[in-house]
Amino acid sequence: MTYFQPSETKCKCGCGQDILPALRDALDDLREMVGFPLEVASGFRCPKRNALVGGARDSMHLRGLACDLVWPVSVSDRHALAREALASFSGVGFYETFIHVDLRHLVKKRLSLWVN
Ligand SMILES: [Zn+2]
Repeated sequence: MTYFQPSETKCKCGCGQDILPALRDALDDLREMVGFPLEVASGFRCPKRNALVGGARDSMHLRGLACDLVWPVSVSDRHALAREALASFSGVGFYETFIHVDLRHLVKKRLSLWVN
């Protein structure tokens, strides 16, 4: 099932660029696994947008392989989201207001887990 629409995942600058199908599929699977709505904080980012939000220079967002998802309000939902993210993504970053997930293994990058 498709949950994440391009309107949610496209670059917020209006350039029209969007995440890769592999990531959309992975996000849809994640949404299916957790069973509750997930809000996108940041999907695709072009270099201009990435610089504006202070993203890393080699950010997976630039390749359409990363998405930041707003933490749910419920603690048990947060646990479920963290658990499923770790099970399905090769890059997972924990931030105060969102969790970053990416598919860095698709570009031959090693698994990465970090807490900001
Ligand atoms: Zn853009």
